Amino acid sequence: MESNNKSSNFIKNIVIEDLKSGNYDKIVTRFPPEPNGYLHIGHAKSIVLNFELADEYGGKTNLRFDDTNPLKEDEEFVKSIKEDVKWLGFDWDGLYFASDFFEEMYQKAVMLIKKDKAYVCDLTAEQIRETRGTLTEPGTESPYRNRTVEENLELFQRMRTGEFADGEKVLRAKIDMASPNLNMRDPVLYRIAHASHHNTGDKWCIYPMYDFAHPLEDAFEGVTHSICTLEFEDHRPLYDWIIEHCETEEKPKQIEFARLNMTNTLMSKRKLKQLVDDGYVDGWDDPRMPTISGIRRRGYTPEAIKNFVREIGVSKSNSVVDVRMMEHFIREDLKLKAPRTMAVINPLKVVITNYPEGESEMLDAENNPENPDMGTRQIPFSREIYVEQEDFMENPPKKYFRLFPGNEVRLKHAYFIKCNEVIKDEGGNVVELHCTYDPETKSGTDFTGRKVKGTLHWVDAKSALPAEFRIYEALIDEEGEENQINPNSLEVLQGFVEPNMKDAKIQDKFQFFRHGYFNVDPKYTTDEKLVFNKIVSLKSSFKL
Ligand code: ATP
Ligand code: MG
Repeated sequence: MESNNKSSNFIKNIVIEDLKSGNYDKIVTRFPPEPNGYLHIGHAKSIVLNFELADEYGGKTNLRFDDTNPLKEDEEFVKSIKEDVKWLGFDWDGLYFASDFFEEMYQKAVMLIKKDKAYVCDLTAEQIRETRGTLTEPGTESPYRNRTVEENLELFQRMRTGEFADGEKVLRAKIDMASPNLNMRDPVLYRIAHASHHNTGDKWCIYPMYDFAHPLEDAFEGVTHSICTLEFEDHRPLYDWIIEHCETEEKPKQIEFARLNMTNTLMSKRKLKQLVDDGYVDGWDDPRMPTISGIRRRGYTPEAIKNFVREIGVSKSNSVVDVRMMEHFIREDLKLKAPRTMAVINPLKVVITNYPEGESEMLDAENNPENPDMGTRQIPFSREIYVEQEDFMENPPKKYFRLFPGNEVRLKHAYFIKCNEVIKDEGGNVVELHCTYDPETKSGTDFTGRKVKGTLHWVDAKSALPAEFRIYEALIDEEGEENQINPNSLEVLQGFVEPNMKDAKIQDKFQFFRHGYFNVDPKYTTDEKLVFNKIVSLKSSFKL
């Protein structure tokens, strides 16, 4: 596995210290997604951090499905999560499901009851909330707090066997209703949910809460450093309390870091699911989605994503990363890898009136001037070609160097052409240009007779392949605010590509001259028609 993340960060320093002092004799990390949605770019940060940290110190990383909430979880998500982690280039050591440990967790809960550290409470969820107190006022003890150990053991057993309805009873830790940390005010450890679980079916009708399950899962798997996001900082005393009082053999420690937030990006499975369910996008892998599967379909490479999240680094304070920084990394990655070719997106026909009818020729074109190893290709040229509509203006402003009546431009890889006549339809729209070419000006020859300022891309009309271009803008207008969905985030345009694109495969990536980087869309491309996603434009004002 590659591990380019050699820069130091505070988590590494903790690991180094722990290994040196003998606190731990090895390092085991885990990536613990809840299978309630597809992974997003924020998860990529956690994946890279966990896998590369363990790898750097000869340790191991598990993939663990944190599947303690049967109502929201699904096999589909388990499958997609595995696929995404693998696609990023990581191989987990152990594969675990929290649900594999439900029996062990239950036994630990029984242990807490026996130590008088947990009790069955009949208060409703609302009553529990109301009696929890505030940051300035202590909570009120539950009237059920002093049930005997025997009574608690019996009631908890009956919760398990399904005698009670959802919400009728919970198991709570007996800690301190006056604790300044609200998470320590007798938190709920188990709830009743008569629901089928994707893994355990109908075996259980009580499910452990995250704060109880997570430290136990870590301990059962032998995880040493349990890395999570900052929201869990206030839960750490509870994490340590569970580890201590459940007397687990392994003693994992929780470390928090700042989650990745990005401009114009929703970074929550729940909110992304809403976009899918409400039909704003064509699935979790819509190329506008910040999901790993969406970004993959958009044409991003694992290298670009990894380099991006490595560059952001690991910190203790929340911030918002400019989405253009991510774009910078895909540009960097594709610069030398993607062949450069010509696509005309909004075509305008040009007839080269002095080019012999019925004839054509092949022209040499470099595939990537910045990477000569990519070789050359041959592109056809004949009497009729397409150029971009935006490359012609009948009445141009000053400093317009493209086509206009009487002006001469260079056709990339071909000849100079001069515009002589503009053909319009009845509505006055320009439908065709008549030009002449100068055979002396062929690209690659040492013609020095005169210079022109504009260079246009084009395709040969007869042999060009029709193609669809899907152009994207941010899905979210402002900084990730809900309900600010950009209504213009997708534009579907029709045009042409060079004929040698007939061999293009799903997910092949190209730089279309002046338009940007594109890939062949895996969902909409058919034998009849190539469909391209715009990955990113060629340039941005963003500086790293
Ligand atoms: P979401 O709210 O999107 O569901 P989550 O944190 O609930 O996110 P989990 O499936 O529980 O999602 O997360 C798995 C791991 O990924 C956790 O360790 C979590 O801390 C980490 N993670 C989730 N979102 C981010 C993010 N934006 N940046 C960094 N790490 C993240
Ligand atoms: Mg979650």
